[in-house]
Amino acid sequence: MGKRTLLAPLAGVRILGVECGGGGWVVSAAGPGHGTCPACGTPSRSRHSTYLRRLQDLPSQGARVTVQIRTARLRCRNPGCDRQVFAEPLLGVAEPRLRRTRHLADLALLLGHHVGGRPAEQVLARLGMPISDDTVLRWLRRFAGQDIASPVRVLGIDDWAWRKGRTYGTIMVDLERRAVVDLLPHRSSAGTADWLQGHPEVEVISRDRHGLYAEGARAGAPQARQVADRFHLIQNLRERIEQQLSRLGRPLRAGARPQQR
Ligand SMILES: [Zn+2]
Repeated sequence: MGKRTLLAPLAGVRILGVECGGGGWVVSAAGPGHGTCPACGTPSRSRHSTYLRRLQDLPSQGARVTVQIRTARLRCRNPGCDRQVFAEPLLGVAEPRLRRTRHLADLALLLGHHVGGRPAEQVLARLGMPISDDTVLRWLRRFAGQDIASPVRVLGIDDWAWRKGRTYGTIMVDLERRAVVDLLPHRSSAGTADWLQGHPEVEVISRDRHGLYAEGARAGAPQARQVADRFHLIQNLRERIEQQLSRLGRPLRAGARPQQR
């Protein structure tokens, strides 16, 4: 089996060797040796120097995998450009300045998005991918809305645990594209209204049935139609049924609660 087939593919990166050491695998690799200047967009193959970029990757059989990529600093040959030297971008492999591969960052983002920072940290550590909850949350903020260029027509608003059960923020989701648009560090009607005032294109807002998001939506987006989301509708209905049943002395069996999507 070749070296490449042991590893998740890293676009444009040449794998030079794989060694066992330091409690995991170390993969030696080299970058593509070319790139375009981030300031002016001029392509370059003119190497100025190199440095080693160390990236944590997805684990192999539970063991930590570190990819060491010999990365080039390239000269910008455009005489009109202020940028003389830039690091070759590792497109699709790792974001600039991150110390993890895109594979790993995507997985951490997905987990952080669904369960919150602290539980994501625990699951990732158990799977051989130690990443702190602070890092997961920082990435979520950095990447939220990154790919959204077009306006949001149907918006979902919900609260979201920065740290499970402790600090709550607000998550804004484009329900048509099923993508996170923004994460607000607070949960308030004024903050929600502020955000909505910057998005007059929103036509429909799906939110929980009561409280501050309804108020924020009324103040910040009077043009939008508000709808209660399905999960919260079912949860509300369930609470009402539970109250009635317990008044009748017949509480609902434990564990039969609705699950959030
Ligand atoms: Zn340039």
